[in-house]
Amino acid sequence: MALTKEQLEEQKKDAVELLFSGPQTLGFAKAMFFGHFRHELLFPYPRLSPEEGYHVEKAITDLREFAATKMDPVAIDREAEIPLDVVVGLGNLGILGMTAPASFGGRDFSQLAYTKVMEAIGGICSSTAVFVNAHHSIGIRALLLFGTPEQQKRWLGPLCHGSQIAAFALTEPEAGSDAANVQTTAVPSPDGAGYILNGEKRWITNGGIAQVLTVIARTPGSGGNRKKEITAFLVTPDMPGFEVVEKRMAKTGIRGTATGRLKFTNMFVPKENLLGKVGKGLKIALTVLDFGRTTFGASCTGAAKVCVEAACKHALSRVQFQQPIAEFELVQKKIAFMAAHAFAMEAVTSNCASLIDRNFDDYMLETAMLKVWSTEALWKIVNDTIQILGGKAYFLDQPYERMMRDARINMIGEGANDVLRGFIAVVGLKPLGDYFLKLQDAAWHPWRGLPSLCGFAWNQVKRRLTVPEVPVASAVLKPWATSLGKRVRQFALAVQRQIFRLREAIITRELIHERIADAACELYASSCVLARLDALLQSSDANTPEGKKDFLTGEYYLRFSDNRIGSILADMDGKLDSATLAAAENTLSIYRNGSQTS
Ligand SMILES: Cc1cc2nc3c(=O)[nH]c(=O)nc-3n(C[C@H](O)[C@H](O)[C@H](O)COP(=O)(O)OP(=O)(O)OC[C@H]3O[C@@H](n4cnc5c(N)ncnc54)[C@H](O)[C@@H]3O)c2cc1C
Repeated sequence: MALTKEQLEEQKKDAVELLFSGPQTLGFAKAMFFGHFRHELLFPYPRLSPEEGYHVEKAITDLREFAATKMDPVAIDREAEIPLDVVVGLGNLGILGMTAPASFGGRDFSQLAYTKVMEAIGGICSSTAVFVNAHHSIGIRALLLFGTPEQQKRWLGPLCHGSQIAAFALTEPEAGSDAANVQTTAVPSPDGAGYILNGEKRWITNGGIAQVLTVIARTPGSGGNRKKEITAFLVTPDMPGFEVVEKRMAKTGIRGTATGRLKFTNMFVPKENLLGKVGKGLKIALTVLDFGRTTFGASCTGAAKVCVEAACKHALSRVQFQQPIAEFELVQKKIAFMAAHAFAMEAVTSNCASLIDRNFDDYMLETAMLKVWSTEALWKIVNDTIQILGGKAYFLDQPYERMMRDARINMIGEGANDVLRGFIAVVGLKPLGDYFLKLQDAAWHPWRGLPSLCGFAWNQVKRRLTVPEVPVASAVLKPWATSLGKRVRQFALAVQRQIFRLREAIITRELIHERIADAACELYASSCVLARLDALLQSSDANTPEGKKDFLTGEYYLRFSDNRIGSILADMDGKLDSATLAAAENTLSIYRNGSQTS
């Protein structure tokens, strides 16, 4: 049943409170909605310092040596378990506390350095990548960002070392994509010493094996309207009332991870275990997910590179119709897509990591875009690899069916992609909508608002005439920079047109959100690729055989993406939208009210 106007208003108010409270800056993505190109956030392309580069190289070499003898992705998948000696080994290699300060036993790696290691893990074993992600990127991260010094001192040491495992428990039967709908309650205990938790969590990675869990629960409201709030707690499994209902749920992919169901019955959690402030649980969840999504991008890059290599080797060696299948255009088309997207994925991941490292406070759209765009590109890459390998890929002595099963979760976990598309579009539109509201107000009060109105009129003229500057150092990239600038301008004008056309109703028009989000993802990815190519051409690698190949790969991505952006913008109104919705309703109506049984 559709929501009432009041319910929609309430949802909108909560979302604005969550996403737009505190100081607001325009990050790269939000600025694109205004037709700006904030090049200083992307250029120069982020690189590791020589010293950190050395440590990363060493960490990856050690990881690969360890993996060659100890990590068997086939066995991990078959046994549906990551063996203890792998967990201990990863801990000894410092991978389980990589970005934590050395004073807590971490390795002090930057986010950029960490993504390089996560890329390597993603190319070896997706189960292990997700395990590390849940433990480190979201588990430990919550403690690092929001824990008190006492909490950090108590828990970070064993977590960084890997003698304890972390988990992040948000999802519940009634709270999936709608994370704000958590039903687990946390009520202050009568003596004021803590909270009593009751509820269930499901599908929690590491949930049944973790020693420290961040648990998101609903606390009674404290404000004037006493609206219920959402709060984060640090929970340990030795707390009476903590129950592991199911430790390892059987599942499609990333089978080595322990995905658990948990139940809390009158579980007392001392108030010292509050994580962050009361009422800030969702903000904590969203912030932590920014980190998780960045490492998602890294592990997708690792898996994509493995596919590129496998597909090329097979295409060159498999002969059909008296030719290697690499000679056929439809095989070449797939390989071009794979290589270009693997190259671009690395560029976008590095940019997101660098935004985090440089302490910018607005990168939630960028990390969401990385997640949506890279996980879908990987899905296609794995599918194309399977197609190129043909029947061979279908057999279990090959890794591709496992890679396919493993890749599927990426589009569901840490925010389902379609939900994130809405998030990207609406959060991107909001500052622009606010700007227009201010103008509307100015139009009602023409004298007071005259400066705003004149500014708007001037901006309109300027935007139609000028293309935002996309500065590149390499002359050969200038035409690409100009066409990217033109696309950003077209995007802003198209988005603005939708706001004028639909006004408030745009908030619920998901088909338009999808096109806005997809165009924004492509623009962002192209921008990151351009920055990467510019850095490449300015470096000593430019004239090496690898450098030249990388250049062509990246340039193809720019070409491909420009084409895609053009198609999306050309149909921003959505010629098929009404017919699509009517067709869906036609089919849904057959099953409404249980009128049809199969
Ligand atoms: C293997 C695995 C590991 C996980 N690990 C964790 C973990 O460690 N911690 C944790 O808290 N959670 C975890 N999860 C839960 C995961 O984050 C959720 O599955 C995810 O948030 C989506 O929720 P849902 O599956 O309930 O889908 P639902 O919310 O039921 O959505 C189903 C589908 O409906 C569509 N949809 C829903 N809402 C909208 C909308 N507004 N607009 C358009 N389409 C929409 C989307 O297509 C979506 O895919 C894990 C899940 C799995 C499968």
